[in-house]
Amino acid sequence: MWRALRITVLLVVLATVALGAWRAQHRATSWVNTLHVSIYPINADGREATARYIDQLEVQDFAPIADWLDGEARRYGINTLKPLAITLAPPRTSLPPQPLRHPSALEALMWSLQMRYWAWRNDDSPGPRPDVRLFVQYHDPAVTTAVQHSVGLEKGLIGLANVFASRVDHGGNLMVIAHEMLHTVGATDKYDPVTLMPRFPDGYADPQQRPATPQTQAEVMAGRIPLSPERADIPLSLRHVRVGPTTAAEIGWLRAP
Ligand SMILES: [Zn+2]
Repeated sequence: MWRALRITVLLVVLATVALGAWRAQHRATSWVNTLHVSIYPINADGREATARYIDQLEVQDFAPIADWLDGEARRYGINTLKPLAITLAPPRTSLPPQPLRHPSALEALMWSLQMRYWAWRNDDSPGPRPDVRLFVQYHDPAVTTAVQHSVGLEKGLIGLANVFASRVDHGGNLMVIAHEMLHTVGATDKYDPVTLMPRFPDGYADPQQRPATPQTQAEVMAGRIPLSPERADIPLSLRHVRVGPTTAAEIGWLRAP
């Protein structure tokens, strides 16, 4: 009797959590309402220069992401008045759990649970609760020349991005943040994990173009502009970045690519 009751209560709790997550995800990808994204800067290396850089960040620095997504949504016939609104949270004082470089399925699951718990404990963004929380780890380029790949929790509405604490890199940082944000609403990577080259055709901004290279834009989930089958460059700003048809379908902008 008690055992049956305990199991019932547990099932109700699990169903409520699952339903809540499903509704949050559904709301985020319906594109009827504005998607509220909060950016939480983190000093990843504890350096003074990184702290100074984070301190001078303003919410307007991230406005190009909202403008870019607005333009891309319109290209796909999404007419939400303001598809994306970004707020800037105060810097975090603790580091989130770091994902392993090549995790097993179990390790990836464990990290995702730890990350959700950490995000829950570190959620004091001003104003209403955001739909998507992006934790952005800044690294001083004077000591770090390559940052670890960023991770977005697909369907978790939480992302962890690694970027450089420098104005020169700001345009590239915005692309990394946009990429992670789109992961959280269902977009998948579109590059070869070994060569880092965009995958054809879905990693190309214009898969219909003939010849296929050189392209002039990067697909956001591929992250590079394919110039030839062997060469691809990282774009310097979101002006050279597009949402390709496959990504558009994944995030709910198209029914099929
Ligand atoms: Zn990615």
